[in-house]
Amino acid sequence: MEPIRMVDLKGQYTFIAAEVKAALDEVIESTAFINGPAVKEFQANLEEYLGVKHVIPCANGTDALQIALMGLKLEPGDEIITTDFTFAATVEVISLLRLKPVLVDVDPKTFNIDPKAVEAAITPKTKAIIPVHLFGQTADMETINTIAEKHNLFVVEDNAQGIGATYTYKDGRKVKTGGLSHVAATSFFPSKNLGAYGDGGAIFTNDDDLAHYIRGIVNHGMYERYYHDVVGVNSRLDAMQAAILNVKLKYLDYYNERRKEAAIRYTALLQDHPNIITPYREAACSSHVFHQYTLRIINHDRDGLVKYLNENDIPCGVYYPVPLHRQKAYIDPAVSEEDFPVTNQLVKEVISLPMHSELSVDQIEHVASKILAYLG
Ligand SMILES: *Cc1c(COP(=O)(O)O)cnc(C)c1O
Repeated sequence: MEPIRMVDLKGQYTFIAAEVKAALDEVIESTAFINGPAVKEFQANLEEYLGVKHVIPCANGTDALQIALMGLKLEPGDEIITTDFTFAATVEVISLLRLKPVLVDVDPKTFNIDPKAVEAAITPKTKAIIPVHLFGQTADMETINTIAEKHNLFVVEDNAQGIGATYTYKDGRKVKTGGLSHVAATSFFPSKNLGAYGDGGAIFTNDDDLAHYIRGIVNHGMYERYYHDVVGVNSRLDAMQAAILNVKLKYLDYYNERRKEAAIRYTALLQDHPNIITPYREAACSSHVFHQYTLRIINHDRDGLVKYLNENDIPCGVYYPVPLHRQKAYIDPAVSEEDFPVTNQLVKEVISLPMHSELSVDQIEHVASKILAYLG
């Protein structure tokens, strides 16, 4: 059996090496390193894949979130509601822009932002909601969008972990994540489901005016060369990364399908143990792309399990060990611990197992058997 890795970018590369090298050669020969045809081609292909009108590539997922928020023309002190249980980038950009992050608790089943908590946190200063499709599971977008409409708020999807997932509305309509809100952000960090070989990100929207405004923001606030109408940033997707992403986009559905197969196999092996809660998924499973496969270890020693797996050469992760409301940079004395019962519980229980498109049946069975051996 091959050594087990948390992500296996080398194994994945083996299958696409010739295509990737040819794509890189083409960029180098063309010398169109910035905003050249490779970037435009990837942008168009991603628009088609997602079914969104505008993809605006940028330098990374954190920039994508920041620029998406800059596009909404908010005022300092405006409140943005987001989840307490996510990667810090989501809340970091809110604070950087002098907006006020309002963190709310999550649903214990999906780990995603709890719409009831969102509604309870709305004040006259609230301007936007940022749901995160955490671990690849789509947030409850229909409910969130209904709340947003009622209170006249923007919705900004953080789709860094959810690319390729499909959300099904109650009436049966299907839409890919990233196309379910006013504006969305994603990351092409190497370990994401659609990962570059370096940094990358993108903003999505169906709004023509917002797309135009954002295309200026990513390019120093220029709409006409050397005329700077707004304060912008310099945030570009590198042409080499775009060329690699263009190759990998063709395989995204296949990669996500392989992740789902691995997830279903893990679940079949682990779901009956009384100390394990396996990840929630809908029957069709289209709403989850398993960026992470995350268990809850209940009434047992999660940290002991992490140590035991590492001693047995099985990598694993704890995403995330500290809720955002307790991170030094984001502590708000006005906030009460009682508002976060679910996140406070999850940070003690979650463990993410190796998850990628190259996992073998043997590897999955080995990981599961070691977990069961430890839990007894
Ligand atoms: C990875 C990630 C980001 C940031 O993406 P970068 O490309 O690393 O800047 C933002 N939000 C979430 C939920 C992420 O997982």
